[in-house]
Amino acid sequence: METANPHYPHLFTPLQVGSLTLPNRLMMGSIHTELEHRPDGMERLAAFYAERAAGGAALIATGGFSPNKAGNLTTARVEMSTVEDAHNHKVIPRAVHEAGGQIVLQVLHSGRYGYHPDIVAPSAVRSPINRDEPRALSAGEIEQTIKDYARAAELAREAGYDGVEVMGSEGYLITEFLSPRTNLRDDEWGGDFDNRMRFAVEVLRRVRARAGDDFLIVFRISALDLVDGGMTGAETQALAQAVEAAGADMLTTGVGWHEARIPTIAQAAPHAAFVWATENIKAAVSIPVAASNRINTPEVAEAIVAEGRADIAMMARPFLADEAFANKARAGDRKAINICIACNQACLDHYFEGRVCSCLVNPRAGFETKFPIIQTKAAKRIAVVGGGPGGLSCAVAAAERGHAVTLFEAADRLGGQFNLAQIVPGKEDFAESVAYFAHQLDHHGVTVRLNTRATVDMLGANDFDAVVLASGVTPRAPDIPGLDHASVARYDDVLAGRRPVGENVAIIGAGGIGFDVAIYLLEGGDPSYSEPAAFARSWGIDMTLSNPGGLLAEGKPHPTPTRRITMLKRSAGRFGATLGKTTGWVHKSVIDANGVACLAGVIYERIDDDGLHVLVDDEPRCIAADTIILCAGQEPQRDLEAPLTKAGQTVHLIGGARDASELDAKRAILEGLETALAFDDAG
Ligand code: NAP
Ligand code: SF4
Repeated sequence: METANPHYPHLFTPLQVGSLTLPNRLMMGSIHTELEHRPDGMERLAAFYAERAAGGAALIATGGFSPNKAGNLTTARVEMSTVEDAHNHKVIPRAVHEAGGQIVLQVLHSGRYGYHPDIVAPSAVRSPINRDEPRALSAGEIEQTIKDYARAAELAREAGYDGVEVMGSEGYLITEFLSPRTNLRDDEWGGDFDNRMRFAVEVLRRVRARAGDDFLIVFRISALDLVDGGMTGAETQALAQAVEAAGADMLTTGVGWHEARIPTIAQAAPHAAFVWATENIKAAVSIPVAASNRINTPEVAEAIVAEGRADIAMMARPFLADEAFANKARAGDRKAINICIACNQACLDHYFEGRVCSCLVNPRAGFETKFPIIQTKAAKRIAVVGGGPGGLSCAVAAAERGHAVTLFEAADRLGGQFNLAQIVPGKEDFAESVAYFAHQLDHHGVTVRLNTRATVDMLGANDFDAVVLASGVTPRAPDIPGLDHASVARYDDVLAGRRPVGENVAIIGAGGIGFDVAIYLLEGGDPSYSEPAAFARSWGIDMTLSNPGGLLAEGKPHPTPTRRITMLKRSAGRFGATLGKTTGWVHKSVIDANGVACLAGVIYERIDDDGLHVLVDDEPRCIAADTIILCAGQEPQRDLEAPLTKAGQTVHLIGGARDASELDAKRAILEGLETALAFDDAG
């Protein structure tokens, strides 16, 4: 008998799922990459998934492919409906199998969540997140749609996939049939719950019949709908049992319809925030059940499996952040895992912007063919100035390629702005990124000089072939009379705990950092960021699952704000509009719940003993704040550029040092990688 893995013994126990043997309990869940419809998409997806398979993921689910035209998510055609589709896909399962992995195609019909002219649903009920009303399917069209699902499964089999995952969660078509919120039909497909789940059951039954007994069929079930009219826990169990009887080999879980106003994968949700809802399903069926949402470390995944709460830990974003997550966990190389920080900035936000999905902490994700890490044939001596995210990314990638890298950091520790970010509630995992990069520096032999402010003398052409200036930013001091008043504090001093903050606060600036500071002041120490039960309470979730959708009948409790805060900005327009598309609304809702006053279109006049004087709509106002916090953006810090260039040194500017107007770790880390990969050409 094989001996147990010494690090994560339950994760690395094989599991029989239908006709497949999974070597471990780590599954890469479905994520739309925006590659699916691109001309070179299949080849890039093949490379993307093959790296994850080689990295040890036991099973992979692709992004969603529609069984027919109406089910597309957008006007782009992303279907598995023709023989040609099956032929085009072949490269994906082939690459995954060659890498030693197994892969299922997700079949997803968007229902009323489609963004194209011909969206359909059980009934003509518009979604709050879509301008267009769907057309109600006729009985004949429902029958045809079921056939299309079955055909998609058959085609997936022809393409070489190991199975399909039928998407039955998150508010897409199958979910829409399940809920009286979206299903107003009075025929055999609507009415009581047996009728409402008929569509899901028929899809599963026909998929099984058409794809054969030895083809893996996974059903992604909604563990918790989080919308009015969603399923109760008992209905979820009844559905789980019905799809098991109809032929499902395994259940993966989803949480929350997309229109739900409760964070399900954002940083506000604690690790493993919803596993308790998966347990409700596991108790009802005999097939394996996968838990999902905010599982991002092997220890969290191990605990879920070890405690018998689920059979498999399904993660999507953590496999973007680190393609070799599973292999590193198996080897006990925990510190080498690049942990997903749940920022959504380069994955989901990109998807909703129509851009290829990648990862903030791992910009190679989705760009494997564009960013191959190739050993250099001409090793150079590289100096990297600045140990923030951009500098770390550059130093690691350059050293990995074989360059001799020295990293200078003025502070006594690595991390730069990430050391501030990790103080903000929900952003604690930023510390994981710093630890990961520090580990990689060591692994690849980078010389790290902490407490060292690099000078021109240190960086001369005799010592280094090139210098990367990743020296970051300094907080902007806006031009407001009275800025030297004792009430004024910089955001970095506040977050670092160097400045006490009073009860009446004005925040100048409402960008990412203004919001972070407000949330830190309001929610610092709030257990809802770390404890699922406290999180559920604060967002109005019914953990007994007796209410429809898993929502408390009385709604969200009203918090008692710990401070009176006013946020201000000069520009007009909505607060939070510059934040990430998939996360900004969460921050805004915390601000609103805590009664933060938001003043747009202000003109700053002066600061004095009375507070912050502003003009709003030409009317003078005084915000009687005892602390006025500057979150007014950043200025680049690149003093070394001119003297180094003058001295004949080759200088590369990256991140905030290059452009602070949109200081952004995503761009800094990407530029670090790009610069490291370009050394051979550019010197
Ligand atoms: P930002 O998003 O550009 O926001 C700067 C804010 O300052 C704006 O609201 C702007 O509003 C105001 N402002 C700009 N110039 C001003 C001036 N001269 N006087 C007064 N107000 C001024 O910058 P940020 O908040 O520093 O965030 C920068 C980036 O870092 C974002 O991309 C964000 O994603 C990322 N981020 C970083 C962290 C971190 O910890 N490092 C945390 C959160 C976000 P008006 O011009 O309308 O006044
Ligand atoms: Fe995770 Fe952020 Fe990367 Fe998305 S972009 S995978 S949320 S770290």
